Amino acid sequence: MTPDTTTAVAEPVEMTFSDFSLAEPIQRAVAQMGYRTPTPVQLAAIPVVMSGRDVMAAAQTGTGKTAGFALPILQRLLPLASSSPSPARHPVRALVLAPTRELADQIFVNFREYAQFTPLRVACVYGGVDIQPQIAQLRMGCEVLIATPGRLLDHVGQKNVNLSQVQIIVLDEADRMLDMGFMPDLQRIMMLLPPVRQSLMFSATFSEEIKKLGNTFLKMPQLIEVARRNATADNVTQQMFLVGRSDEKRAAVAHLVRTRDLKQAIVFSNTKIGCGRLARELKADGLNAEAIHGDKSQQDRQKTLDAFKAGEITVLVATDVAARGLDIAELPAVINYDLPYSPEDYVHRIGRTGRAGASGLALSLMVPGDERLLEQIEKLIGRKLSPEALEGLPVRSRVPGDHSTGFTETRQRSARADRSEHSERPERPARRTQADRPESNYRSRAQLPGWSSDRFFYQPYEPSAAAVAAEAASVAAAQGAAAGPASRGVGGRRGSRSVAALLGGKLPG
Ligand code: AMP
Repeated sequence: MTPDTTTAVAEPVEMTFSDFSLAEPIQRAVAQMGYRTPTPVQLAAIPVVMSGRDVMAAAQTGTGKTAGFALPILQRLLPLASSSPSPARHPVRALVLAPTRELADQIFVNFREYAQFTPLRVACVYGGVDIQPQIAQLRMGCEVLIATPGRLLDHVGQKNVNLSQVQIIVLDEADRMLDMGFMPDLQRIMMLLPPVRQSLMFSATFSEEIKKLGNTFLKMPQLIEVARRNATADNVTQQMFLVGRSDEKRAAVAHLVRTRDLKQAIVFSNTKIGCGRLARELKADGLNAEAIHGDKSQQDRQKTLDAFKAGEITVLVATDVAARGLDIAELPAVINYDLPYSPEDYVHRIGRTGRAGASGLALSLMVPGDERLLEQIEKLIGRKLSPEALEGLPVRSRVPGDHSTGFTETRQRSARADRSEHSERPERPARRTQADRPESNYRSRAQLPGWSSDRFFYQPYEPSAAAVAAEAASVAAAQGAAAGPASRGVGGRRGSRSVAALLGGKLPG
């Protein structure tokens, strides 16, 4: 592989989607989506993908990369589109592989919208759900197939799908796929594809492993990088509130949602039981809240997520694991009910808001004893968060219907629940249920280095040796300081480091 390097324009230039010579049905869909100007990765990728060249791009979810490959793919497939209802006239011509079900679904939803005014059919298959509806969908034919590797191979094995006419393959979040042990599956899938094809690879890192994969996978790729931005997006306003006691945090969350008039918010809890309990308490407090965490089934998670995306839920209480990779359009705010044990999670969490250039609000609660966690966050993001008192918070709050001793008793009940086995451990993939695993072909945990740290979001570029050393020192310090499960969570990370952009660039206007 001898890549040409294109560093995508760091600052957006005045360009519109019409400058790409995309066909009218595609432009119409883009306009309907409300996109006005292309994001940096779109500016760089769309013309190259349209030209038919292989691409290796450094980009992650939230940068607008899906349109960066989907729009030119649709453009390339349009001349072959057929309005015939016959499945035979709709062979798979573009295959997009993604590491997780949620991401596959997100890509599918976007792709379908971009293709809505064309006769091209888009389908999606992933594990953890009933295979039958997917078989029915595949039998109808689709030019674009989005899949997770394991389930795709299941369909191939059952002869539900034929990949011999694939002309374009996209490997999305390639580094994450490697981390999750998908390499053997990827190799099997590659063997099923015609040798003459266009290959696109999106990855957050250009590690040695990724380069090796690129070597086997890409021919003379154009290398695309979107310039690095600050540790946390400029368009996210961050505030830290000091709350006197842990048991006031639930009231603080409700207070923030109400007084800030938040239309919607994701509230992050460090634990599964804490997550479920907080959602119940917020509900009892009159807020429209639901929980999403790793012990819920895939169906439940998807249902809750869909309802949240549709605006039917105001507060989504989530653990880190369940919230990975989510793209919620125009999410106004995130609230850290618990400060995360690892500072990278803070950046990841607040990256759920302020996506694609929109402005966002990141509100965090801390209690006495959280100073060390705050310090680590401030060190990572390179700025002070100056905790402030939360004005107007009721001194005591009572869950409606609790007519006994009020808050004190509620607190005692909570404390009993806290002591129940495992319940208050931070949600980490080591404790994942089967339903929470990335794929049916999930292998041993040893094959998932770094998955728990979700390195994808933290290392868009290869760091300098100095940055790695500094981070190692900070992790060692954190391990010394953080007690119990917290230190385990941090210690599992491999070389996490300064956070680069969660977004590829701020849109003008
Ligand atoms: P992605 O990185 O593809 O997951 O996209 C992140 C979010 O940005 C999605 O909600 C997209 O719909 C949105 N998006 C993508 N491109 C644009 C654009 N040019 N203008 C505004 N929003 C965009």
